[in-house]
Amino acid sequence: MNDILPKKSQSEASMRSLNNKKIAQELDKWYNLQARDLPWRESKSPDPYKVWISEIMLQQTTTKVVAGYFKRFTTKWPTVNKLAKAEIEDVYEMWQGLGYYSRARNILKTAKIVSADYKGKFPYSYKELMDLPGIGPYTSRAISSICFNEKVGVVDGNVLRVHNRLIGEKVEWWNKDFHNLTQVFSDELCKYENPSHMNQALMDLGATVCTPKKVACLVCPLKKLCNSYKAQNQNEIPLPKPRKESQTWVYQVLKKPKTTQSKKRNTGYILASNETGSPILKGKPLPAGKFKKTKVKPKTYSFMHTITKHKIYVQFIDHPKDTKNLKEYKIADLRRENPSSLIEKIWQHPDFNGKL
Ligand code: SF4
Repeated sequence: MNDILPKKSQSEASMRSLNNKKIAQELDKWYNLQARDLPWRESKSPDPYKVWISEIMLQQTTTKVVAGYFKRFTTKWPTVNKLAKAEIEDVYEMWQGLGYYSRARNILKTAKIVSADYKGKFPYSYKELMDLPGIGPYTSRAISSICFNEKVGVVDGNVLRVHNRLIGEKVEWWNKDFHNLTQVFSDELCKYENPSHMNQALMDLGATVCTPKKVACLVCPLKKLCNSYKAQNQNEIPLPKPRKESQTWVYQVLKKPKTTQSKKRNTGYILASNETGSPILKGKPLPAGKFKKTKVKPKTYSFMHTITKHKIYVQFIDHPKDTKNLKEYKIADLRRENPSSLIEKIWQHPDFNGKL
């Protein structure tokens, strides 16, 4: 098949041709036999606290890595009420290595709300769950379907890939239209069979059978219903997502203030600002300075760093005398709130004015 099908109507028609009832039945049978053993699935009836913690940890991190973190975290704080009493410093410590520390902050905020306003019981519906800090469309639907049997499907990269292969067409799956179609597909499966099983089965199938590479169609419960398997084009679907055009930026970072006395790492102070005009790491504190977009590589710079489509050339410039518009940050706090490798490279660079 050579044609790429961007038109919504074509993939919509293909979606309608899928036998969703049969897909749901096969997934349910398969899940009853093949569900993965995961630490957050150990209790007989799913615990919303544990499902929530695992889903937040699994964002950007593999199941294998999360398992150890999850066990340590839930051993220290086995219930949402216990977590609600924790200090943020302790949560950060437990989170160390998982990255994206805003997730740790949101977890504590949500635990306090659930403990105080909901008497330690999570709300049942995905709509109410979405009002809690750090809980978005995917996590809210995962919690409400797995724990409270709400008939709502989840959509993530795994589900998009499985759905795209079932349809068997080369669609622009990264567009909102295909996401919406997949949401309809996923919701519909939950109407036919146990929503908890449907969502977890799709998660497991995408992680273990219908994987991005080395697709294991021969052991797939859906092979008789799958258009990609019929056409044997499963290795060409989904299409590679087009790379975004790269952008070049200069980040002029103020050198470390001369007044910072401490020689120890993590203990001195650095002025930080999130008003740098940054195209990346938005909403997070950054070392004071300014981002400028450019078409050409600058003649002088201390190092270059790439984040997604952004090429960032870092220049260190002298510290100004007037610093009244800049906020002082303890280095340890700044690293914790923004533990990106770009920031770490800045701290470590000799041109920044010596190691901190
Ligand atoms: S048959 Fe193959 S391509 Fe189709 S859903 Fe199963 S694993 Fe994916």
